[in-house]
Amino acid sequence: MKTESADILIIGAGPAGSVAAGLLRKQGRDVLVLEREQFPRFSIGESLLPQSMEYIEAAGMLQDVVEAGFQYKNGAAFVRGDKYTDFDFRDKFSPGWGTTFQVQRAHFDHVLARGAERQGATVRYRHEVLSVDTTGEQPEVTARGPDGETYRVRARFLLDASGFGRVLPRLLDLETPSNFPKRGAIFTHVQDRTPPGSFDRNKIRVTVHPEHVHVWYWTIPFSDGRCSLGVVAKMEYLEQYKGEDTERLQAIVKETPSLANLLKDAVWDTPARKLTGYAANVKSLWGPGFALLGNAGEFHCIRRAHAGETVDWEKDYAKPLKAGVDTFRTFVESWYAGGFQQVIFHPNPSPDVRRMISAILAGYAWDTNNPYVAESKRRLSVLEAVCA
Ligand SMILES: Cc1cc2nc3c(=O)[nH]c(=O)nc-3n(C[C@H](O)[C@H](O)[C@H](O)COP(=O)(O)OP(=O)(O)OC[C@H]3O[C@@H](n4cnc5c(N)ncnc54)[C@H](O)[C@@H]3O)c2cc1C
Repeated sequence: MKTESADILIIGAGPAGSVAAGLLRKQGRDVLVLEREQFPRFSIGESLLPQSMEYIEAAGMLQDVVEAGFQYKNGAAFVRGDKYTDFDFRDKFSPGWGTTFQVQRAHFDHVLARGAERQGATVRYRHEVLSVDTTGEQPEVTARGPDGETYRVRARFLLDASGFGRVLPRLLDLETPSNFPKRGAIFTHVQDRTPPGSFDRNKIRVTVHPEHVHVWYWTIPFSDGRCSLGVVAKMEYLEQYKGEDTERLQAIVKETPSLANLLKDAVWDTPARKLTGYAANVKSLWGPGFALLGNAGEFHCIRRAHAGETVDWEKDYAKPLKAGVDTFRTFVESWYAGGFQQVIFHPNPSPDVRRMISAILAGYAWDTNNPYVAESKRRLSVLEAVCA
């Protein structure tokens, strides 16, 4: 089998892989990206967080994204029964971008991957990573190209950006069960035909089921009159609905009058899809010669390692990354338990607290100047008690 060498090898050309490739090219590194699929390809995760704009900009891809014509986004709206509230991310506690886009991922991911290529990264589509060996001096992966031939790549550094593919966690036995209950999502794109003035297209809309606190829907408008529509719920709940996924989603939407009414003229022209049990955990975010990609902001570690400095990957990479993830986890858990929903729908919120919450919804979960980041558990439980 042929063996090639690479400076940086990235698994996956989703947003994380492409942005990482752009950032590393800016550091002058040679980058090879192996991507299993042919682009454009469908993916989920269409309402970007403003915080991610900082990395798109740093990777030199801002102009590509702005010129692609995606739907502008400035916040999030929440609906439960007859209650409606919205957050404008330009009015938030943390500094940084307050606006972003809602994107069809097939197009968006392709725009970023082409941005990485324009900056000199090599992206090989339809090249799947099959196995990895991290026991030698340098990590080595075995991949299969579109012609069916397998080959090896030995890299100075390996980054796993395989997202839902979870390549290194699976191959290196890094997976640990998630403590989130098993949830699933059913989703599609529709031509929404919402009545004029009824839908703020600049915001993702999150609608809560009138009876089940753990069931919620997203509507993410795009710039072409279409919108992404999905429901997230515990598996047991979704399993009650039989038939094709489109029929199941239609039946669940019907249960929530405000949403059913918003979408009463929608054209359901795309078969729905589903995703189940996507929550996952890992034992470690790094190992000898490799790291799992999370927040591309921690990239100075790779630069320092390349410059011959000793990097404490746990302290300098994993710990800061996990801190923000833990903040999100606190809010997500509280959302499903109902407490954070009471905060969101409270009729008389304090403007200062709202700006702090707005920052977290916009993705600024690493800004420890925000008290709801620095002490998220304690602060949120006090706030829940006050709002209850
Ligand atoms: C229900 C749901 C709703 C979501 N909504 C949002 C949202 O509104 N906004 C948001 O920001 N995020 C959202 N997310 C999260 C978002 O989908 C992910 O964070 C995002 O897609 C991760 O991007 P990524 O680049 O890390 O991975 P991915 O987008 O998964 O890309 C990974 C790439 O790796 C490739 N790959 C996989 N295996 C291999 C292999 N063996 N060899 C080579 N290549 C491989 C894949 O083909 C893929 O192209 C949502 C997630 C879920 C489950």
